[in-house]
Amino acid sequence: MAFYKEPCIHCGYFLPRDAQFCSGCGSRSPFIYSCPTCLREIKKEENFCLGCGRPLYIMCPKCLEKTFIQERCEHCGESFLVQCPNKRCQAYQFFQNTKCTACGKVLRK
Ligand SMILES: [Zn+2]
Ligand SMILES: [Zn+2]
Ligand SMILES: [Zn+2]
Ligand SMILES: [Zn+2]
Repeated sequence: MAFYKEPCIHCGYFLPRDAQFCSGCGSRSPFIYSCPTCLREIKKEENFCLGCGRPLYIMCPKCLEKTFIQERCEHCGESFLVQCPNKRCQAYQFFQNTKCTACGKVLRK
């Protein structure tokens, strides 16, 4: 009688349904996509975040393909996350974020 598990949408690692983060890739939203700016749940059918209005499709800076705003590029696999420079925070942040969503520190461009 195994626990019912679901794959992480980012890396495919199987996790218990109540997992708060993925132990495979470290994502803090393993079963939903969330807006990297306001952290609201977003869907691939939407073009803009309903919470903050940011576009949900961006051009990958590496392969220049249009990709959904998620942890890595759908085409080349390039990671879009950078670590917060605050030593006590170090949360992973979307590279376009101007402020850390965890501690509020202004991130460098
Ligand atoms: Zn994962
Ligand atoms: Zn948003
Ligand atoms: Zn790419
Ligand atoms: Zn931070």
